[in-house]
Amino acid sequence: MRPDRIWSFDDLNEEVVKKDLCGKCGGCVSFCSANRIGALRMDEKGYPAYKDKALCLQCGLCYMVCPQTHPMEDEIDEVYNWKEPIGNFMDIFSARSTDFEIRKDATDGGVVTALLVNMLEEGKIDGAIVSHGKSLLKREARVATTREEIIKSAGSHFSELPHLEEVGEGYSNFVPVVKSLHELGSGKLEKVAIVGTPCQINALRKMQTLNVVPSDIVIFSIGLFCMQCFEMERLMDKPFIKQHGLKLEDIARVNIKEDFMIKMKSGLTVHIPLEEIEPMARPACLSCNFFSNDYADISVGGLGSIVGYTSVMVRTIKGKEMMADALSRGVIERKVRRHPEDDDIEKKRLISLVKEYKEMKQSRGLRYRKKYRDAR
Ligand SMILES: Cc1cc2nc3c(=O)[nH]c(=O)nc-3n(C[C@H](O)[C@H](O)[C@H](O)COP(=O)(O)OP(=O)(O)OC[C@H]3O[C@@H](n4cnc5c(N)ncnc54)[C@H](O)[C@@H]3O)c2cc1C
Ligand code: SF4
Ligand code: SF4
Ligand code: SF4
Repeated sequence: MRPDRIWSFDDLNEEVVKKDLCGKCGGCVSFCSANRIGALRMDEKGYPAYKDKALCLQCGLCYMVCPQTHPMEDEIDEVYNWKEPIGNFMDIFSARSTDFEIRKDATDGGVVTALLVNMLEEGKIDGAIVSHGKSLLKREARVATTREEIIKSAGSHFSELPHLEEVGEGYSNFVPVVKSLHELGSGKLEKVAIVGTPCQINALRKMQTLNVVPSDIVIFSIGLFCMQCFEMERLMDKPFIKQHGLKLEDIARVNIKEDFMIKMKSGLTVHIPLEEIEPMARPACLSCNFFSNDYADISVGGLGSIVGYTSVMVRTIKGKEMMADALSRGVIERKVRRHPEDDDIEKKRLISLVKEYKEMKQSRGLRYRKKYRDAR
């Protein structure tokens, strides 16, 4: 694509960072054309900033790959055959891993982990960019190249007693997986899969459409549904936990589906409406419109599936091939319905739920964008 004007980081700073729309994905810094000589950096709070403005080549790449800007939207819509309102998809169903070792640590049905392990063992990928639990609360991006490493990275919750002291300043459950991709550029891996939130997969698709190296090594993307990422220190602060009569040390894990779920070690699950946790979300997430990860090969979430299952949207031919392979090898199983006609009812129910949450997120996005504008 030939842009009809050239942007620079100044435009990105004005239109995205200063307007609280930056999701800290790191795409602009990692893929800056002057990355090696150091034009940009991530500041102490995780936002992009000039390191040395004089080194900027005024090429506009940072602006174009940002998930919050618009110049490449039509192009990726066309490449990924995007349709109103939740993008292109060929199939939608509930499924789970058949392996208990995977399911026991997975967020939902372990479909993501099972699919990645299968792709690795079948030689379709050399590794996967995932998020790894570094400590009880913290996760960081990693490149997993073995079955064990992929399984160790399952889940998106913390599973043991969390200590507030562990929550570093500004830490959130957002993991900058796109940044790892750049670090892979000079490595030995040629075919990798990536797991990411919608903003990350959007940035990746823009890079791929522009042929920005090394986005070409990502041959498969698994997109997570995403309502929001949290500032963990706010989510876990004592008044919020106390207000719900909970004790931090009794929490086993958290998850988001139709609402925010806190699973206690006793087995009891406390459900909290999503509106109630809005104040703990990152500002950029509150004004974000993306929910169903419309440009991924496969999108996944817990929404609409019973406990222990993942909702799966197969979106591309590649997604269809990889899922068919995993199903035929018996590493993933679809939720079995008693009557074949129930499959259709289920499909319609899942589609309407995804649409509902996408609409909900879009109207929240509009509300917060207006709020931020009015506050200026
Ligand atoms: C921040 C976040 C918000 C989410 N919001 C929703 C929501 O609102 N509604 C909904 O239905 N589902 C949401 N999900 C998706 C859901 O929690 C599950 O990840 C999804 O259903 C897949 O479950 P699984 O058991 O198949 O995955 P698993 O087999 O457990 O694998 C999960 C994979 O995701 C990777 N991962 C974990 N955290 C991150 C992260 N922050 N960034 C990138 N990769 C990561 C892990 O390394 C692992 O590879 C969200 C996930 C995340 C991480
Ligand atoms: S060199 Fe290009 S990508 Fe880097 S900051 Fe300048 S305009 Fe952005
Ligand atoms: S959202 Fe990502 S690409 Fe956009 S300004 Fe923020 S860090 Fe950069
Ligand atoms: S809500 Fe999700 S997709 Fe949107 S900016 Fe936050 S992490 Fe990214």
